[in-house]
Amino acid sequence: MLKKYEPNQYTLAREVSCSGIGLHTGRTIRMLMQPAPENTGVVFYRSDIDPDMPVPALVESVVDTRLATTIGCGDARISTTEHLLAALRSIGVDNVRIDIDGPEVPIMDGSAGPFVFLLKKKAGVRKQKNFRRLIKVTREIAWDDGDTCIRIFPHEGFKVTCEIEFNHNLIRSQSYSLDVNGVSFAKEISRARTFGFIEDIETLQANGLALGGSLDNAVVVGPDRVLNAGGLRFDDEFVRHKALDLIGDLSLLGAPLLGHVVAKKSGHGQHLAFMKEMAAAGNCWEYLEFARNRQGNILTRAIKNSSRAAGNVVVPFFVPGRPAMGQNAVPAVGQNL
Ligand SMILES: [Zn+2]
Repeated sequence: MLKKYEPNQYTLAREVSCSGIGLHTGRTIRMLMQPAPENTGVVFYRSDIDPDMPVPALVESVVDTRLATTIGCGDARISTTEHLLAALRSIGVDNVRIDIDGPEVPIMDGSAGPFVFLLKKKAGVRKQKNFRRLIKVTREIAWDDGDTCIRIFPHEGFKVTCEIEFNHNLIRSQSYSLDVNGVSFAKEISRARTFGFIEDIETLQANGLALGGSLDNAVVVGPDRVLNAGGLRFDDEFVRHKALDLIGDLSLLGAPLLGHVVAKKSGHGQHLAFMKEMAAAGNCWEYLEFARNRQGNILTRAIKNSSRAAGNVVVPFFVPGRPAMGQNAVPAVGQNL
């Protein structure tokens, strides 16, 4: 969010484009981001395959979580969405059309730094008339799978805590926590690069994957040192990058999140499973909507999920442009900002 409880939706002030290598295909890919109307959300189009087929950046569009988060509709697939999505969400861009002429978002330098620069400095943001809807966590939601666990707790704002553990001298256990907003994201997380171990990269490339991977777009970890000439950007760059991936994946909920997410040893597949768990736990979160009262003041009101009493009924997340869930429920709390 641009600031805590920013009520209005935002889009880009002007279009912006970039091109770069795709991490997995090694191809040069061009991407154009354009302003979009209110309630559009973040929507991708594969201009080379089906230029009119929208692929919304939402949980329901996810088709693959191996190596990266891939969304798609039919043949129109877009991979490695997470770094760009993290930048869009953290800067506070709700509505944007993204045309892309290849199967993955350019990897750039392996971080979200170049996207933050493009969005903040080149495109800029423009306030729109309609108000936002937020997802407010009201009770803890827990998800576990082996030694991976993800929790979300009620929190006045959006906070992430990540923990990683690798059996490697240069990483071992790392933990990182941040209250995320446009400024803190740009400064503390956006520049953290994706990373890989030299032996894994060799295996991937032998299997036709990570063909675009190089020291220009990833931290490459050797047996006893980081192989990149400049070393690390942060001492704990590895765990900061995990936080970046988590923020990007959680943006697929389709609305800014008010809650504190704690993720231990998680990856894209676990993030998706956790978001599905959230959908099933409709009594642990609610939508918070901004509205203007008769006096012209902006208030927030909670929209209760219709499954609150029903228990384990799965609540579909709000999809921009479609009628929202819970419209039949009585808007409850009015709270002055
Ligand atoms: Zn990543």
